Amino acid sequence: MNKIRGDKLVTILDGKSLRDKLLSDLKLKIDALNEKPELAVILAGEDAASKIYVNNKKKTAEKLGIKSSVYTYDENVSEQAILDKISELNNDNRVNAILVQLPLPKHLDKSKILDGISPDKDVDCFTTYNYGKLATGLEPYVYPCTPKGVLLLLDEYGIDLDGKHVVVVGRSNLVGKPMALMALKRNATVTVCHSHTKDLKSIIKTADVLISAVGEVLIEEDMVRRNCIVVDVGISRGSDGKIRGDVNFESVSKVSSYISPVPGGVGPMTIASLMLNTYELYVVQKKRSL
Ligand code: NAP
Repeated sequence: MNKIRGDKLVTILDGKSLRDKLLSDLKLKIDALNEKPELAVILAGEDAASKIYVNNKKKTAEKLGIKSSVYTYDENVSEQAILDKISELNNDNRVNAILVQLPLPKHLDKSKILDGISPDKDVDCFTTYNYGKLATGLEPYVYPCTPKGVLLLLDEYGIDLDGKHVVVVGRSNLVGKPMALMALKRNATVTVCHSHTKDLKSIIKTADVLISAVGEVLIEEDMVRRNCIVVDVGISRGSDGKIRGDVNFESVSKVSSYISPVPGGVGPMTIASLMLNTYELYVVQKKRSL
């Protein structure tokens, strides 16, 4: 979708439309199976946003014909209880994909729990095994959902990262770091920024592609080079209660060539990637059992 903003055209990276397209193609593949792939989700604690995300994932899965089982635990759950459930799911042939919804309650050892997932059921590339594959340029079973969604969105609009300077703001294991690794794999020149970065603005100014994954509004029009491609991963809630991204969409869309909105950009692509990954893991496991 093109819009006139300021003195130029900007293309909106429409994650909702692409999600719908990818998922309707996926539904055809799932309809053709004589069994349902299964995604198991572990949800521990009382994080309100996590409950909403998990509910959305379950609804999307069910619309596609993916069975989705959610295992909920209260805030005080023991590490062992979750590890036991993961072990049970690892050994259950009907379960193809396991997702531990983050964040986990603080007393739990996140790395230990994530590493409990069998790598071939690791639907968000959380395990050291799959992450190590990603970091060494090899193929994990599946790629992490959010960065994968970003690349699918860029691909849809014919945006090739080869040789481009990609600036990733954020270095979390969930988004920023795998995003940087995946952009490197696409032959981009990558700079990763974080809360200790000095003079963020002058680095962002050099970006051909800016991918922001922070969680607060910090990207303004004067920080972005003309015709920069801007992908906004961030999600936060403004004082008006509305969902917003890291990027001031109104102002930045006047200078960028492509921009993803929040909501409606990367968020829907993350869910689409989760469904695609569940199916991909199902296929891997079926091929192996032949
Ligand atoms: P996170 O773990 O909190 O990481 C935030 C990153 O931003 C950190 O690396 C932090 O630097 C950096 N940062 C914080 N303030 C900064 C500043 N002023 N300047 C530069 N960098 C700064 O969060 P996350 O899990 O990566 O998620 C990031 C955002 O994406 C959140 O809003 C989250 O809700 C959203 N998200 C969206 C989706 C989606 O589907 N759209 C999926 C996942 C996450 P340090 O490392 O130095 O602390």
